Amino acid sequence: MRPQALFPYFAEVTALSGVGPRLAGLIRRLAGPRIVDLLWVLPREIIDRRYRPAVAAAEPGRVATLRVHVTLHQPPLSARYPYRVACRDTTGALTLIFFKGDRKYLEQALPQDSVRIVSGRVEHYNGAAQMAHPDFILPEDRLAELPDVEAVYPLTAGLTPKVLRKAVQAAVNRVRPLPEWLEPGLKHRMGWPGWAEAVRAAHRPENAAALEPGAPPRARLAYDELLANQLALALIRARARRRAGRQRQGDGSLRARVREGLPYQLTEWQEQALGEILKDMAAPARMLRLLQGDVGSGKTIVALLAMLNAVESGGQAALMAPTEILARQHAAVIAPLAGRAGVRTVILTGRDKGTERRRALEDIASGAAGLVVGTHALFQEDVVFRDLALAVVDEQHRFGVRQRLGLAGKSRDADLLVMTATPIPRTLMMSAYGDLDVSRLAGKPPGRLPVRTLVVDIARLEEVLEGVGREMAGGARIYWICPLVEESDTLDFTAAMERHAALARRFGEDRVALLHGRMKPAEKDAAMARFASGDAVILVATTVVEVGMDVPEATLMLVEQAERFGLAQLHQLRGRIGRGDRPSTCILLRSSFPGETARARLETLRATDDGFEIAEKDLALRGAGEVLGTRQSGLPEFRLADLTAHAELMQMASTDAAGILESDPGLTGPRGQALRLLLYLFERDAAVETLQAG
Ligand code: ADP
Ligand code: MG
Repeated sequence: MRPQALFPYFAEVTALSGVGPRLAGLIRRLAGPRIVDLLWVLPREIIDRRYRPAVAAAEPGRVATLRVHVTLHQPPLSARYPYRVACRDTTGALTLIFFKGDRKYLEQALPQDSVRIVSGRVEHYNGAAQMAHPDFILPEDRLAELPDVEAVYPLTAGLTPKVLRKAVQAAVNRVRPLPEWLEPGLKHRMGWPGWAEAVRAAHRPENAAALEPGAPPRARLAYDELLANQLALALIRARARRRAGRQRQGDGSLRARVREGLPYQLTEWQEQALGEILKDMAAPARMLRLLQGDVGSGKTIVALLAMLNAVESGGQAALMAPTEILARQHAAVIAPLAGRAGVRTVILTGRDKGTERRRALEDIASGAAGLVVGTHALFQEDVVFRDLALAVVDEQHRFGVRQRLGLAGKSRDADLLVMTATPIPRTLMMSAYGDLDVSRLAGKPPGRLPVRTLVVDIARLEEVLEGVGREMAGGARIYWICPLVEESDTLDFTAAMERHAALARRFGEDRVALLHGRMKPAEKDAAMARFASGDAVILVATTVVEVGMDVPEATLMLVEQAERFGLAQLHQLRGRIGRGDRPSTCILLRSSFPGETARARLETLRATDDGFEIAEKDLALRGAGEVLGTRQSGLPEFRLADLTAHAELMQMASTDAAGILESDPGLTGPRGQALRLLLYLFERDAAVETLQAG
């Protein structure tokens, strides 16, 4: 249960004076429904009213506070024109402009021949200084009412800056000091204020520097959030470890038989990763390991050998893929290899129904199936394993945390291996897993030819199509990727349909296959089979081919509207070619007028084939939220921390969390108690509950 000290922050915003239901609705849209949500909305800019030049010296475009004599009211002749008030000081003239100005109000606020302080943005119009709708008009004796610096918050439609600022201030006024959860040495070294002071200061920026991510109040709040994240993950993980795992150490007999049949040797990276995995499996603690390797680095065989180790030791192993297509492809690779060692593989996806599904479930429950490959259908309730020893989750960024852990939950002591082909920058990985063990396939199997990448303006489509014709004549197989239209998969699929129709007209109906998310599973299989067999030589597809498709004969890929894709996604797509022994080319078709960022991103992709470098660049160019599409990625979103700007803080928080777990694993000491507050403050309630459950 949330501690009482935090109640004031978790009340609805309507508890603030001046915030009614209508305003609360707007605030909810911007930030969230509760007071704490409002606290986490930090100012984006400042208005500095300390700039007080003489009228003639006021820079156009800048907010200035001016002392002027009111010389003449000029009411408009018609309502179409603004109300003008002429003012001046010894250096020059300033006209105040009011659209739909109310004469009575203006005559009262700006009496003729009086001296007034006006504050607002100065513009020059035909060489004359103007200020439209000053933010403040005050007589000199009320100058104290003018704030020196005002915070400017991000806005949502319908919310005025003034109203939002007041609501945030009301929330900030509620803030009271909380017991300190930071280690005093760290706090001192970084020069950070206490929590309450940090919140107040972050909302009261004195200058532009105070808006920087490294400004002490902001950095402290970001650190709090990161520490909550890292500590929560460490706690959850510590509990998973406490549940005794089982020692799984096979005799190697099945693995040897599969290795004998392989047409290649494992690379040194594959051997090393496998060694690390087997060591974890043999240890009594439960394994939680990430196998990271760029597209084509050969993760599947590593996973299969680990899975066979599970079978050798008397258990079962499951492999979960994010899509039907990928699950089937994994099964197609794995089943014959495992079959050679006498191990049966069953496949279970959402598509399997009726008798087929029942038989699969029986084989899983009886243990007749040593290996199980499937989609999220694997963690439906009626799927019961006889003895699940190892759960492998492929392409994990597609799954949410709950799903990832859900499969392992099919067995109280199953080891978990998570594989990712999308290189996730380290900071993002830490945000999702904490400090988990990582094996990395740093290089690809030998003999791969690099993929040549070109960025081409869509205006040159005709030339490109001629090139495609020539490639086809030379026997190439070609992927044609249509853009992902985020808001509408209807548009998405219309684009693919249209492109398919155009290419079919040009190159022949029978040579072009179409694959998109709306097709029935059997149609998808048929399209892929046609392409894999060479019956069709062009596969027009939406991003459903993104993950894992393996057609080594494909040597050309075209991506339409490439600038709309994430870099990691493009890299992933590009990994579909260059799998055979012939040189491959990827053509990124971009719109004729890409923005700066789009240009830079496509250039990165053209210049390098290193997935990790690409991921880091993408993170720097676009920010964490967008890199993987946080919502679909299952990665946590941060309100205060910025994983690009605060990467170092993330590392510190991770180390800090590990230290806390070592010195006070139950969070019972004084700092431990304060840390519980921190976890609740950032809504890591589930992590605190692991403590209570023991
Ligand atoms: P990914 O890491 O992208 O999942 P895969 O496991 O699909 O990569 O492997 C890509 C291709 O490389 C497959 O065709 C696989 O058979 C092949 N492969 C894997 N390991 C080796 C190796 N050591 N030597 C040569 N080819 C390999
Ligand atoms: Mg793979």
